[in-house]
Amino acid sequence: MKARRSVDLIDRYLSEDNNVEHVERGDYEVQRDLSGVVAALVLSCPGCGSIQALPVRYPGHHPSKGVLWDWDGNEDLPTLSPSINHVGCWHGFLRAGELTSC
Ligand SMILES: [Zn+2]
Repeated sequence: MKARRSVDLIDRYLSEDNNVEHVERGDYEVQRDLSGVVAALVLSCPGCGSIQALPVRYPGHHPSKGVLWDWDGNEDLPTLSPSINHVGCWHGFLRAGELTSC
C-alpha cells in the first residue's frame, strides 16, 4: 500500500470526532513543532484508519523522550525503522513511501 502524504490529516481526523471514515488508510502527515522542526510522522493505520503519532529522530534531531523511530528525512517517500505495530491490528514497515505488512 502506498503511503499518501496529507497536509490536513490530523485536522480532518479531529474535526470529525476521530471518525476514521474521514481519513484514508495509509495517509500520513509530517508534524512539526513550534519552531518548524519535524517532530513526528502521523500515520493513519493501514489496518483500521486510526491515527498514531510516530515521534522521529534523524541527524541533528535527537529528542530524548518517548518511543522514537529513525527517519531518513524524506518527507514524500519516507522510511521509518523499526517496524510500526498497531498491536492486534496491523504490523508492518514504511519504506520509501510504501507500507508493507509483515
Ligand atoms: Zn490499526
